[in-house]
Amino acid sequence: MDAETADVVGHDVTTITCVCGNTVSQDGLIQANSEGVPVYAASPVPEGLAAWPEDEDLYTLCPRCGRVYRDAVIEETGTAPVAFRVDVTTGTVAEAIQVHWDLSP
Ligand SMILES: [Zn+2]
Repeated sequence: MDAETADVVGHDVTTITCVCGNTVSQDGLIQANSEGVPVYAASPVPEGLAAWPEDEDLYTLCPRCGRVYRDAVIEETGTAPVAFRVDVTTGTVAEAIQVHWDLSP
């Protein structure tokens, strides 16, 4: 067992301190789908982002290192194991992150 786990407080995904040290108040954390692509809560969904998952199965993406956590696991267990990692330097997810920040106030 060498699974990585982030620190989280009180089953609250917004309190994650990523394995890399990033938090909501640093580089931010982004709601993503099961492929790690940032989601958009309204319609129409901007080019490059993913639609909000119909089953509400959301993940939390760290845009600094690309680690992704599954919200349902955090809410149920109060722990935040890394679900998977995505490439945040190039490709679909990297472009979606850029779109996400461009749209954020
Ligand atoms: Zn991270």
